[in-house]
Amino acid sequence: ENKNTDKKHSMLFHPSMDKEVNQEFLLSNHLRYAIEKKELYIYYQPIVEVHTEKIVAAEALLRWKHPEFGLISPEEFIPVAEKTGLINEIGKWVLKNACIQNKRWQNQGYSSLTICVNISVNQLKQKEFPQLVGNILNEINFDPKYLELEITESISTENVENIENILYDLKRLGISLSIDDFGTGYSSLAKLRQLPISKLKIDKSFISDIDDQLTNIQIPSAIIAMAKSLNIKVVAEGIETKKQLECLKDLACEFGQGYLLSPPVDKDSFERILHLQSLKEK
Ligand code: C2E
Ligand code: MG
Ligand code: MG
Ligand code: MG
Repeated sequence: ENKNTDKKHSMLFHPSMDKEVNQEFLLSNHLRYAIEKKELYIYYQPIVEVHTEKIVAAEALLRWKHPEFGLISPEEFIPVAEKTGLINEIGKWVLKNACIQNKRWQNQGYSSLTICVNISVNQLKQKEFPQLVGNILNEINFDPKYLELEITESISTENVENIENILYDLKRLGISLSIDDFGTGYSSLAKLRQLPISKLKIDKSFISDIDDQLTNIQIPSAIIAMAKSLNIKVVAEGIETKKQLECLKDLACEFGQGYLLSPPVDKDSFERILHLQSLKEK
């Protein structure tokens, strides 16, 4: 039906390919010019309050459409961007443009909409990262209260000196931080408590399990209980069925996102979704 939604990308370069290294090289050469050639753009996926199903935030998800190769999945090109260091420039571009877009929506009357932006560990490792984020926010006059950075669970096991300091510096800017794909890494409770994290995003693998057997709610249920005791909010990722949504309501999970609610969509489609919702409320 709608061309501007995406559930699947073409897998041009299959991970099992023989010439993996050459493909990576090829990809990185093209990625280098993707920004100036305007081949990158951002899709947005609604994040809702589970209890009311009301949209409270948008997650910015990067897309790359190459004129020959077609749509390339971020799962394919983000690792290449990380290896080559291109992620720093690309990451800055995403952050700035996603915030600009969010501000437009706020100005249209969706004033409390938050924007969530994925950040690679490589970006966080830059000592100047907090200042860089602060500069972007100043430049576009963005209220930091409405920005959330999603970082992967692996940061809590990384042996990066100063990573905690960087997180605290970011927090001091007034933005919030969340842990993405939670449950797939090895974060300890003790470690999480030390970090200035306000949200956990339960990895979609645990949510898709909910359908098969009722015992599978034990993991989401335990994560939600643990998070509550630490005063951390929870987002369930990858909600695809009504049953999963109902279960999460029962578990009092605060927020959710997934194909059942909406796949990631382009900015115009997102705007239509916001508009439809506001009509319903009237
Ligand atoms: P993520 O941050 O965990 O984002 C969620 C992924 O799950 C997205 O994949 C989204 O399209 C997909 N998804 C959403 N709902 C469902 C569902 O109901 N079922 C299933 N099976 N999947 C769902 P996407 O857009 O392909 O992005 C993949 C990953 O690429 C992201 O995972 C994130 O780690 C990374 N990524 C995307 N954009 C950026 C970016 O701007 N910067 C960085 N550093 N990483 C990014
Ligand atoms: Mg994410
Ligand atoms: Mg992520
Ligand atoms: Mg995730």
